[in-house]
Amino acid sequence: MTHKAGRHFLQIPGPTNVPDRVLRAIDMPTMDHRGPEFQALGKRVLAGIRTIFQTKNPVIIYPASGTGAWEAALVNTLSPGDLCLMYETGHFASLWKKLAERLGLRTEFIAGDWRHGADAAAIGARLQADTAHEIKAVCVVHNETSTGCVSPIKAVRDAIDAAGHPALLLVDTISSLGSLDYRHDAWGVDVTIGGSQKGLMLPPGLSFNAVSDKALAAQETAGLPRSYWAWDEMLAANENGFFTYTPATNLLYGLDAAIDLLHEEGLEQVFARHQRHGAATRAAVEAWGLEVLCAEPSHHSGSLTAVMMPEGKGADALRHTILQRFDMSLGAGLSKVADKIFRIGHLGDFNDLTLIGTLGGVEMGLKSAGVKHRSGGVEAAMAVLEAGHAAENRQAAE
Ligand SMILES: *Cc1c(COP(=O)(O)O)cnc(C)c1O
Repeated sequence: MTHKAGRHFLQIPGPTNVPDRVLRAIDMPTMDHRGPEFQALGKRVLAGIRTIFQTKNPVIIYPASGTGAWEAALVNTLSPGDLCLMYETGHFASLWKKLAERLGLRTEFIAGDWRHGADAAAIGARLQADTAHEIKAVCVVHNETSTGCVSPIKAVRDAIDAAGHPALLLVDTISSLGSLDYRHDAWGVDVTIGGSQKGLMLPPGLSFNAVSDKALAAQETAGLPRSYWAWDEMLAANENGFFTYTPATNLLYGLDAAIDLLHEEGLEQVFARHQRHGAATRAAVEAWGLEVLCAEPSHHSGSLTAVMMPEGKGADALRHTILQRFDMSLGAGLSKVADKIFRIGHLGDFNDLTLIGTLGGVEMGLKSAGVKHRSGGVEAAMAVLEAGHAAENRQAAE
């Protein structure tokens, strides 16, 4: 091993960089998770996490990766053989579908091309046709991390309502919570699934279910077996700030700090920052003469950008060059788009200069790896950042 000076650039779309303040918060002696000191922390994070999901209802916190919270959302609300309408936004939607099938649910996939978010009209049309109300849940990934496409969740809710359909709406926000605007209550979502290691700037190991009253009512009749994931006992213990089994105590200290960071910056500012960085990244990609995978501008993600490689050039070789030369990790293309795209993560603890460093690494990497492109991507991104700040200053002066 040779020593590499300076910080590694971890620009995959999760896990993301953990801010020093969150690391310091996690660095605490182990505590009694049934004691009074823990109780205060438990109450604080259980209240605080609601503000991030923008919900007044409870949020269940699991010591698990995001996949666990996917499973929890399904087993608490559905019964064996129930039909789930899912939308093929990309790799993560496909994994969630597979998980649902392994639990004994039936699934129906609305096919997608991995270049768009979910089509609310197509979901609405399918629900209209389901006059027998056989579909029990509509499952959508808000920010499809494998493609950089965002699905319009409010429009999906409106389509369900317009169809007069009683299906539950389950949404995966694992890579958008704390980076893209998301409103559990206002958008009428029944279960929102979140994870700690992306926009929330924590290490992997926590995941979440935000619930609606309708979802809470559904657990009364849901017939899928559940124990570890069961909401009822956990919610009862949470009333007093405690958990039914040992929570990830040190990660909860980190969560407390991460929630503070998000509020100190302001959620609106956090969302605006991610939008600005998404726009600047896309300007760079365009200046390089490359193509962004997400083909619908209104679905472009502010938390990551997937970039298509020119014909005949492998994305993995480019990522390898960039890691070797510049000590930067970029996201790989997953399954269907393996080696065809690379993903630039620009979410979490990330500022203008992190972006310029990241894009500088990509631009130098394109050159080193002999990928046909034009220079000037970094300059194009800087122009977008400057324009964004100028607009903010004008607003502040008004
Ligand atoms: C990362 C991710 C997952 C998987 O989460 P794990 O924590 O790896 O289990 C699921 N969905 C989306 C959208 C993701 O970005």
